[in-house]
Amino acid sequence: MKTSAFAERLIAGRWIAGPGIRDALKTAAMINDKGLEAELNYLGEDFSDPADVSKTVKVYESLLTRIAAEKLKASIALKPTQLGMGISEEIARANYSKIVKAARKVGIFVWLDMESHDYVDRTISLYETEVLRGGVGICIQSYLRRSAEDLKRLVRKRAVIRLVKGAYKEDSSIAFVSREERTKNYERLMRYLFSNSKRFMIATHDERLLDGAILLSKNHHTELSFGMLKGIRNGYAEKLSKKGMNVVIYVPFGEMWLQYSYRRLREASNMFLVLRSLFER
Ligand SMILES: Cc1cc2nc3c(=O)[nH]c(=O)nc-3n(C[C@H](O)[C@H](O)[C@H](O)COP(=O)(O)OP(=O)(O)OC[C@H]3O[C@@H](n4cnc5c(N)ncnc54)[C@H](O)[C@@H]3O)c2cc1C
Repeated sequence: MKTSAFAERLIAGRWIAGPGIRDALKTAAMINDKGLEAELNYLGEDFSDPADVSKTVKVYESLLTRIAAEKLKASIALKPTQLGMGISEEIARANYSKIVKAARKVGIFVWLDMESHDYVDRTISLYETEVLRGGVGICIQSYLRRSAEDLKRLVRKRAVIRLVKGAYKEDSSIAFVSREERTKNYERLMRYLFSNSKRFMIATHDERLLDGAILLSKNHHTELSFGMLKGIRNGYAEKLSKKGMNVVIYVPFGEMWLQYSYRRLREASNMFLVLRSLFER
């Protein structure tokens, strides 16, 4: 087996469901059997070729039909640049509306992922075209200095927020770069959500933040869910679900596994370096 094929298989099994819709549905069914929900993302980003964008829209349309037919507990997650945001805002808006319309017909929730900082304004503006009609959520990254303001503005519009730390490499002029600052800001934004929003997702594997959210949930009546990525701390996710929490596993699938896996590898190796530094003299 070639090294790349070996690496693909190794990574595909852990973080990614597999190349096709069938793999995604099978993984979602397995997740549902354990009492958790799935959030399905067709891999692909930074598209500059309209053919890639059209193919992606078709895949999501089929996916919605199949999720509904198989009665799975699953939402979908879209990346703005796979809808054509890098080509033009109009293309992305038309594709987003098309998918959201199809999803509403079958009662499936649509999340909008957040990519690198260049796209934040356009992603929020894309989301705002659909937020009032419901059935849609958006991701906010705690590492961005601007996120507290974005959160306030979106919550006022009754947005459904998925709060994450953030996965892209950003400059310190616009982002909190240390682990400590990112976590501190996450906590601050999380508290804001508990006090001001009725429905949101705490998407992290950070146990301290998860414990904090569970504690806050005891004094706030919110429709809270916890989000985790396929392959990361999923045993812990199952434990949370058994305690009665609503837990969602984000499941990527498709052939374009490299960029997504690169982000996960970087996070895993960052953690390895942090651990190693604890034992170094
Ligand atoms: C449901 C969901 C949706 C997301 N959507 C987006 C999005 O739209 N945009 C975006 O920028 N980011 C997104 N992310 C990724 C997120 O921003 C973080 O990069 C990722 O979740 C890791 O951060 P953490 O909060 O788990 O904290 P960390 O401090 O990075 O990790 C906490 C703990 O989780 C475990 N862990 C985390 N990563 C790994 C790994 N790769 N391998 C092994 N163990 C690991 C370790 O035990 C670690 O100590 C999403 C994450 C989730 C869970």
